[in-house]
Amino acid sequence: MTFGLTVLGTATPYPRPGNPCSGYLLRTDRTTVWVDAGPGTLAALQHHHRPDRLDAVWISHTHADHTADLLPYYYALLFADQHPRGPVPLFGPPGLADRLETFLAGATPNPASTAFHVHELHDGHRAEVGDLTLTSHAVHHGLPAFGLRATHDDAVFAYSGDTGPCPALRALADGADLFLCEADGEGPHHCAPEDAATAARGADRLLLTHVGHTLTHAEAAERATAPVARPGDTVTIR
Ligand SMILES: [Zn+2]
Repeated sequence: MTFGLTVLGTATPYPRPGNPCSGYLLRTDRTTVWVDAGPGTLAALQHHHRPDRLDAVWISHTHADHTADLLPYYYALLFADQHPRGPVPLFGPPGLADRLETFLAGATPNPASTAFHVHELHDGHRAEVGDLTLTSHAVHHGLPAFGLRATHDDAVFAYSGDTGPCPALRALADGADLFLCEADGEGPHHCAPEDAATAARGADRLLLTHVGHTLTHAEAAERATAPVARPGDTVTIR
C-alpha cells in the first residue's frame, strides 16, 4: 500500500454493533494518522496499528461522535502497556484542549500537555506529518469544524468532516483522488447524499460515510451514485 484509507467506523450519532462512530486511518508505508476518534474507533484501530505508534491524530470538530475515544486513548498512552515516544501530535479545533482538561478534571498529569501535543487548527492550517501534508479547511457545521485535505506525493485525499453544503466543501474535494463525504442528512449542518455528489464533481471518486439514521446505506448509495464506506475496509487512494 502506498497511500490508503482504512475505515474504522462510520456510525452517527452513536456507535452500533460492528460499527463505531467516525474514525479512519490514513496510511502510507511510513506514516499513520488517526482521523477522528469517534467512540469505538480506538478498539478498531488496534486491528491495524499500535496506538502508541500513531504519527498524529486529526480531529474535525468537538462533537462526541468524533472525539470521545480521545479519553480512553489518554489512559492508554499514560497509564497502560503503551509506550509512546513522546506526546502524540493532536490536531483539532480551537477549544479541544480545554474540553479534554475539563472532562478529565483533576487528572494528573494534564492530558493536553502530556499525552498529547495539541495544535489548534485554523482555516488553511497546514502540517507536515511524516510523508503526508495535512491541510485543514473550515467548513459549515454550526461550530468550529474542519475538513481535511491530505497529500502524499501528488495523490490527494479529501474528507468533509461534518458539514452542510458550502463553497469550502467543493474546494476541498476539487482534484481529490478520493473524497470521503458525510451524508448525515439535510442541511444546513449536514449533507444529503445529493449534496455529497454535487460537492464531489471535481473529485475522481466519492465514498459516502456517516449516513444518517433516516436512510439505509443502499438508499444513500443510490441517491449519490457512490458507494458507502464499510467498517474494516481499506481503500487505496491512488
Ligand atoms: Zn458526526
